[in-house]
Amino acid sequence: MQIEKYLSNYINGELRKPIDGEYLDNLEPATGQVYSYIPASKTADVEQAVKAAEEAFPGWSNAGIKFRSEVMLRIAAGIKKYENELVAAESKDNGKPESLARLVDIPRAHDNIHFFATAIEHFASESHHMENLAINYTLRRPIGIVGCISPWNLPLYLFTWKIAPALAAGNCVVAKPSEVTPMSAYLFSKICIEAGLPKGVLNIVHGLGPDAGQAIVEHPKVKAISFTGGTKTGEHLARTAAPMFKKLSLELGGKNPNIIFDDAAIDKAVETSVKAAFSNQGQICLCGSRIYIQDKLYNEFRDKFVDAVAKLKLGDPKNPDTNIGAIVSKTHFEKILNHIDRAKDEGGKILIGGQAVKGKGRCADGYFIAPTVIEGLTPKCSTNKDEIFGPVVTLNRFKTEDEVVDLANGTSYGLSATIFTSDLNRAHRVAERIEAGIVWINTWLLRDLRTPFGGVKSSGVGREGGFEALRFFTEPKNVCIKY
Ligand code: NAD
Repeated sequence: MQIEKYLSNYINGELRKPIDGEYLDNLEPATGQVYSYIPASKTADVEQAVKAAEEAFPGWSNAGIKFRSEVMLRIAAGIKKYENELVAAESKDNGKPESLARLVDIPRAHDNIHFFATAIEHFASESHHMENLAINYTLRRPIGIVGCISPWNLPLYLFTWKIAPALAAGNCVVAKPSEVTPMSAYLFSKICIEAGLPKGVLNIVHGLGPDAGQAIVEHPKVKAISFTGGTKTGEHLARTAAPMFKKLSLELGGKNPNIIFDDAAIDKAVETSVKAAFSNQGQICLCGSRIYIQDKLYNEFRDKFVDAVAKLKLGDPKNPDTNIGAIVSKTHFEKILNHIDRAKDEGGKILIGGQAVKGKGRCADGYFIAPTVIEGLTPKCSTNKDEIFGPVVTLNRFKTEDEVVDLANGTSYGLSATIFTSDLNRAHRVAERIEAGIVWINTWLLRDLRTPFGGVKSSGVGREGGFEALRFFTEPKNVCIKY
């Protein structure tokens, strides 16, 4: 697959330049160099995309589940076919190790499309019987044109996670990937063309959030928005969309607790907690960034954890041995370093890391930060409350189950939590009391695509995944028939 220097939008089934001819720089974070240019699309480009979606909607929504499913399965096959190109592109664009993109991002993008292409064949609606009087049934029709807006941390993975259920349910989509990591979405548009997706069914508009993103959210013909990104952006989106009565699904930030009880299998807890802390340079909304360790196990866990972190290999994302790649952008790199400085000001003791690292060879100007472990902070300090979204974790001591539940619930976020214990009763008890949309016991990031996914509190509104997503992307209508 050819990768041009100047990317294009994908509108009405074809690759199109931005109307006003403006482009944004696209950088490779591992080298700090500009390597391609992204359309800086504006309202006029979004207008074209909405028009194309509007024209495509009657055909796509009435084409039948079998047809939609078959087209989507061809798209999934295209992701498999171009796996190597997508892996390389995702790593180059984002800074993540190629090994991670190969293990997680690209297979998951394939699975998202494949899952919803088949899930739609099993999706059923409800029926409510009023004895001797009437029967109600619920019709679920696609909404129409929907907007899907995604972030930079898991670019194609999260982009397809929204687009797939929207398309399967019969909607037409105007989607915007992050301007920081546009490349895999661009390649995806080529895969859709090759797979024969009818024109206008999916439109991909590149550009800045306040320009292209805002134009999608504001457009009166876009009836629902599925958004993943920062909590502040989510608030802004809700303020824009709510007065227009749009359906909204918001998947936002997290500051997830990782709880280690005295009775945990310590080596497994250390290994999993290192992954939960530093995968994708700590830039996964589900990363466990506040680690709570019960008193008796604290010193042993801390020492083993720091030893394991010391073994992580930081460097060129292309190197198969690399565990820690580059931070996604200069802005984000500086933000994380500021957070580390603040942690020191708050009295935190850096056990390992705590600074930027100069890359070698072609990576000399890349954005690398050593995996950082901090202890000695209070529960209420900003480092333990604010999302950092980088390779930075805190270690914190606790004594009792009640205390750790309070600590875990003590931030404005509520996305996920991880609990390590060998006491099954305790696992169930604590899981029930934690304010989060997802709780993992003795594991992390184990995902079944049928399960509801999302957060509570400032981590979001609504659930993605499985039939929840198909319900979001359809409008229920009750039909009541009297006997
Ligand atoms: P972001 O909010 O800056 O951007 C996300 C997307 O929104 C981008 O495509 C951006 O261009 C767009 N956008 C920005 N302003 C907009 C506007 N006014 N109107 C419409 N769109 C706009 O987030 P980010 O920095 O790309 O991603 C990191 C954040 O995403 C973190 O907070 C992380 O926790 C969160 N995240 C959450 C989940 C989840 O499932 N809950 C998953 C991944 C990432």
